[in-house]
Amino acid sequence: MRTFYAAETALHSPNVFMLRGRLAPNEERAERAERLLTGLARLGLTPDEPAAAPAASLAAVHSPRYLDFLETAHAAWSQLPNAGDEVLANTQPRLADATYPASIVGRAGWHVGDHGSPIGAGTWQGARRAADTAVAAAEVTATGAPAYALCRPPGHHAARETAGGHCFLNNAAIAAEVLIAKGARPAILDIDVHHGNGTQSIFYERGDVLFVSIHTDPSVFYPFFNGYARECGTGAGEGANINMPLPLRAGDEPWLAAIRTALGHIETFGADSLVLSLGLDVHASDPLGGMSVTTEGIGRAGEILGGTGLPTALIQEGGYLSEPLTDNIAAFLGGFMETAR
Ligand SMILES: [Zn+2]
Repeated sequence: MRTFYAAETALHSPNVFMLRGRLAPNEERAERAERLLTGLARLGLTPDEPAAAPAASLAAVHSPRYLDFLETAHAAWSQLPNAGDEVLANTQPRLADATYPASIVGRAGWHVGDHGSPIGAGTWQGARRAADTAVAAAEVTATGAPAYALCRPPGHHAARETAGGHCFLNNAAIAAEVLIAKGARPAILDIDVHHGNGTQSIFYERGDVLFVSIHTDPSVFYPFFNGYARECGTGAGEGANINMPLPLRAGDEPWLAAIRTALGHIETFGADSLVLSLGLDVHASDPLGGMSVTTEGIGRAGEILGGTGLPTALIQEGGYLSEPLTDNIAAFLGGFMETAR
């Protein structure tokens, strides 16, 4: 299986995020990629470096002013008196008649949806290379073969013009748009422990792509405000958005059953290709503590998802710094390659 990774993604390695009122060490640091790469090496997989994707790939998903903000925010922030090292929003628009401000502090609030997504000096370059990685994988998938993109920062919490939850550019949505541009009818299956709220919002009114997310009950877990079963899409997208929340600390059995059910929905939709938002933070030892899935269960998911018969772009999402991250990516991809055609 082709795999892709861009070393420049390490330029984004945030220091802090807000956790229960304290600035805690950020768990989405560049070491994550090293642990994932070790897992790939264990399977004999050597990633290729992705080419730079055309700007149109990003513009298919994100607004011009948001892309401009991501590229320029850190430099503008650094000009502020007594500025910290990272852009951290300290106010967010709440009311419907909000106006887009000129101030970088205001714009940070407009475009950054929470306190988990600090923007540092290398964030734009890192996020941009992660998106390139997703595009490279999707281009392989468009030819009928599976491919894995080691994307970090992850992407599924990023909306059209908002960052959030460690995500800046929505790599899975960008990959889906590559497939759609080539005439495909893809489904996006998101198995990260968190609901893919950014991806959902991007495609919510669209009927040409199915979005299915399996995640921990958002009433008690991030992202809290979306991910409920009643959110089914709207307009042309009605019925093309399926949320399958599971109770907190769900283990292998309900998680694997939900994946099988999701594949039934994907078949009914008539998808001809799959974008998989692959979060390994479902594992019992992940620091975020949403599910209790085992490494064996993750391997089983790989076998199930490798056996769909659909060309699949595997896009790395979460899975934070923890010992088993290497074992888990090796288990998933090992299982996937066993059954993939
Ligand atoms: Zn996650």
